[in-house]
Amino acid sequence: MNWDGRSGVSVRRRVCLRLADGPYLEVTGGFPVVHPPFGEILVTPVRSTERGAAKGRPGGTGPVRPTRGFPNGGCPEDDEGANRRAAGAPSEEHRAAWSHLVATARRTVADGLVVGTSGNVSLRLADTVLVTPSGVPYDRLGPDDLCAVDLDGTRLSGEAPPTSELPLHLAVYRATDARAIVHTHAVHATAVSTLVTELPPIHYQTAALGGPVRVAPYACFGSPELARATVAALRDRAACLLANHGTVALGADLDQALERTAQLEWMCRVWLAARSVPGLTPGVLGSAELAEAAERFRGYGRHPDDPAR
Ligand SMILES: [Zn+2]
Repeated sequence: MNWDGRSGVSVRRRVCLRLADGPYLEVTGGFPVVHPPFGEILVTPVRSTERGAAKGRPGGTGPVRPTRGFPNGGCPEDDEGANRRAAGAPSEEHRAAWSHLVATARRTVADGLVVGTSGNVSLRLADTVLVTPSGVPYDRLGPDDLCAVDLDGTRLSGEAPPTSELPLHLAVYRATDARAIVHTHAVHATAVSTLVTELPPIHYQTAALGGPVRVAPYACFGSPELARATVAALRDRAACLLANHGTVALGADLDQALERTAQLEWMCRVWLAARSVPGLTPGVLGSAELAEAAERFRGYGRHPDDPAR
């Protein structure tokens, strides 16, 4: 029986292959994880100073700083010693939050929003960010996989490298008051991201996400360019699409970020269905209708005794 009551034997394997000029390929848990169109096998050159730090050589006893594309800067096996030194014992609060985060990540798969490990989930607790690790199937995540970083990306807990989209998550947390982020490659939303620069507001649910959902211009996954484009697309919004990539939704907690992801995917599906009718064009809502809906949402769900109701 695993930590969350699921039966089965948890076997974790990591394999690192060094290529000719220094880059590594990482395969975690025996699963090279697909991250279309490139695959989520991460490749990055390893600088000699980082490898020295990872081995505990002079000049390198602190936590390894993240680098583009591979947040721990190299093969995770090389960094294991440094990771153990950097890792503190997670608090009970963090352990409980991690359990909720893992449950949320599994729901993205169960709800059809994620295939394999093609998405990622994070939660901010003060200046600590818990985030799904790279390349580990969610049904294999346990309490020992708790992955925590600070807002600069410095590893605080965990041995597996954080998601390759860590720069995006951190940039959003630095720029917004979000406390949770869900990123997926949900099929209808991803399809829409290849067609338009903004999801046409054909449903009033658009107002619940802050207005018409923007599509951030394409940039390679894991890149600082994608992180910047995402922050810009999220201005005054609770969600956005990433061109030729997927979705990002924010929340005050994990449940809200997941719910918004599901709503966005549903809205994209509705628009695709409506626009597929030959000879007809879906009608869009104007700013007045969206403002009215937004006002209604502000009162929706409040307790009857709420004086602001
Ligand atoms: Zn992605």
